[in-house]
Amino acid sequence: MKILKTMLGVTAAAAVSLLSTSTFAQTYPERTITMVVPFAAGGPTDTVARLVAESMSKDLGQQIVVENVGGAGGTLGAGRVAQADADGYTILLHHIGMATSATLYRKLAYDTLNAFEYVGLVTDVPMTIVARKDFEPTDLKGLIDYVKANKDTVTVANAGIGAASHLCGMMFMSAIETPLVTVPYKGTGPAMTDLLGGQVDIMCDQTTNTTKQIQGGTIKAYAVTSPEKLPVLPDVPTAVEGGLKDFTVGIWHGVYAPKGTPAEVTERLSKSLQVALKDQNVIDRFAELGTVPSPEADATPAALKAKLEGEIARWKPVIEAAGQYAD
Ligand code: ASP
Repeated sequence: MKILKTMLGVTAAAAVSLLSTSTFAQTYPERTITMVVPFAAGGPTDTVARLVAESMSKDLGQQIVVENVGGAGGTLGAGRVAQADADGYTILLHHIGMATSATLYRKLAYDTLNAFEYVGLVTDVPMTIVARKDFEPTDLKGLIDYVKANKDTVTVANAGIGAASHLCGMMFMSAIETPLVTVPYKGTGPAMTDLLGGQVDIMCDQTTNTTKQIQGGTIKAYAVTSPEKLPVLPDVPTAVEGGLKDFTVGIWHGVYAPKGTPAEVTERLSKSLQVALKDQNVIDRFAELGTVPSPEADATPAALKAKLEGEIARWKPVIEAAGQYAD
């Protein structure tokens, strides 16, 4: 009898919880949602997040406010969301750094594969190798020769260990077999300010931060990391064309929620993300910045989960072979 009562109790509790979850999911969202960007305002991840958040807000009928929590290559912001209430009102927009940080940091405040629910992929953004406007070299070959000859004085900006700019910078240094002096920022928004001001020399950063500056001639571009040249930057060769063998990399972005967020809620957010990625304004603004929205099939929890798992497995041996950890 006691066992039966316990079973009935458990079943009743489960039913109440299911009921309240589905009521919650039907009324969600009822207030402002915070989208954490784990880098400084004004940078490429921030730009992608704000465009997507604006469109998702319209679909959800509630504001999505972007909060920038920069530092430690994106791991502080991700950690903030891992600790947040799993109620659908705090979400995270992060990039490839979610995967690389899982190996680069041996002591993370969260367990990457078990601390989040998945909403979907957003976009895959090419990188650009750029320099301050008056930097001497005029092409990629000249850049490689110059930095090799001046390796103790050339400075490379990045957004900290685990950032996309860090990853691309490391790939560059490894390709030319020359370590360079790196200068970490809380995001490549502030790094770009210093590049424009001439305080740092070079950077590898997403087109979502560099395209307008390259077009305006305020910084110098040596290469794009996409397999093909980009329509918005027709004069910039690919890194492979410029002489860096196999140097292609894309910075994929995804939206996450804290572990335990109800599936109905992440599914609602996925639907909204899919609407945003088909929004002509988002498509046009992405195109101006050298990128395209992820296809609808990828803006799903399953696709992002598979991507994250695959990318952790892909980068783990590379990082372990390099033996360069953040901690
Ligand atoms: N582009 C930066 C990175 O290196 C992040 C940012 O500021 O958005 O990952």
